[in-house]
Amino acid sequence: MRILKFGGTSVGSPENIQKVIAVVKERAQKENVAVVVSAVGGITNKLLHAGHLAAQKDTTYSAIFQEIKDIHLTYTKALTQSGETLLHVQNLMNDLEALLQGIFLIHELSPKTIDKLTSFGERASSMMITAAFLEQNISAQHKDSRDLILTDASHTKAIVHTEQTHTAIQNYFKDTNVPITVLPGFIARSETGDTSTLGRGGSDFTAAILAAALQVDALEIWTDVSGMYSANPKLVKQAQPIRHISYHEAMELSHFGAKVLYPPTIAPVMQENIPLYIKNTFDPEAIGTCISNEVNGKNTPIKGISHINDVALLTLEGAGMIGVSGTSKRLFETLSSLAINVILITQASSEHSICIGVAQGDVQRAKDAIENTFAYEISKHQIDPVFIEKELAIIALVGEKMKSHQGISGKMFSTLGKNNINIRAIAQGASEKNISAVIASKDVKKALNSLHERFFEDQHQQLNLFIMGVGNVGGRLMAQIKQQQEYLLEHLKLNLRVIGISNR
Ligand code: ASP
Ligand code: MG
Repeated sequence: MRILKFGGTSVGSPENIQKVIAVVKERAQKENVAVVVSAVGGITNKLLHAGHLAAQKDTTYSAIFQEIKDIHLTYTKALTQSGETLLHVQNLMNDLEALLQGIFLIHELSPKTIDKLTSFGERASSMMITAAFLEQNISAQHKDSRDLILTDASHTKAIVHTEQTHTAIQNYFKDTNVPITVLPGFIARSETGDTSTLGRGGSDFTAAILAAALQVDALEIWTDVSGMYSANPKLVKQAQPIRHISYHEAMELSHFGAKVLYPPTIAPVMQENIPLYIKNTFDPEAIGTCISNEVNGKNTPIKGISHINDVALLTLEGAGMIGVSGTSKRLFETLSSLAINVILITQASSEHSICIGVAQGDVQRAKDAIENTFAYEISKHQIDPVFIEKELAIIALVGEKMKSHQGISGKMFSTLGKNNINIRAIAQGASEKNISAVIASKDVKKALNSLHERFFEDQHQQLNLFIMGVGNVGGRLMAQIKQQQEYLLEHLKLNLRVIGISNR
């Protein structure tokens, strides 16, 4: 068995849904598949927007509701002739409208209600997609994930009760023989019986939970890019998809803003050693990225260069900190009491200062709270008022093989230095999978490009090659060139670029 997950863009229009069907159909010829789907692209945001307007007594929420309804009814009609399905989707939209009216009346939107509200996106998409399979006489069934995935009651980002969930999933699939089961991603059921959700982007996680419970051969996450890239291709033109990457590397990269994968997705499949493939719905032939235990030794020690924007640094400094135990405990406790996430930490061995990176939106709250915690020491001038710096970003080199290579951080910092990029702070874990540097936001693009050039492009020597074909071989020739390109890149680290094709 295999689990396939399709994201919002993949199910973003009736035409795209046909592409999804083609991929699934092909897979389902060989083995049974479970298909996890996101909401239609943009719907979750629209649901939240409508909910917030309604809670503020703003009647324009109904215009957004109308948009959501129109999208779903139009798609349903385009995908199926089934009057029953249309009725189901209509009923769903009626329920949504009633919920929004309720929010409007009580003027309130609790996390529990947010989950109820956002669940409509995946409930509707999964229903429409199941009908689209049936319309083409492909045997498929729908299963509501809320019957299978059980969570605690921490709404909007619930914690999964793994054991109960696994048992429910195993019991359900044990008795089913339908080749294709379509399930909504993202949504689950809380221990109090309410609809819960697994956090924004959580459909990936739904798919990983199913994969782990059923110990499947592979999990495929289908999205709108051809895998994880060596750097964000929007900022680095030369970025390439990474063919092989380890779970740990993928985790480092996905935490670092490579939006391809929801970070919690990796843990369940890593535990069961299930390979995870990232594939492109719009270019199914592209190889994509394989995430597995197998670290490909032939590749460079660096797998990717990642970055996080909108970071601020916060420094706690003072002679009164030296040799005093408990300072960092008090600092981190303060942040944790405000649920502020710490992105990066550095402390020099002089213990004279601790510097931490947080999201820029959190920094003022963090500063106020820390100064409150250390009010006594500050009043006695043992510790200085907290110093903050904004408009920063973190760039990180990621690769599991870095630890067996010397000189990587040297190269990294000399490259940044040569390009006049000032480094504000540095962190490297002892595991050496990630070297992070804090730089000014305005330098991110330059930093990514110069590091990419240094670590990826230099090693790929250029080779000019003429391939000649006889007869009408255009399509086949291109496919062969693509294969050669991948072979050369992987085995010889040669970057084959097609410079021109002439037709004589
Ligand atoms: N629809 C949800 C979101 O937009 C979950 C997902 O797409 O993964 O966050
Ligand atoms: Mg998503």
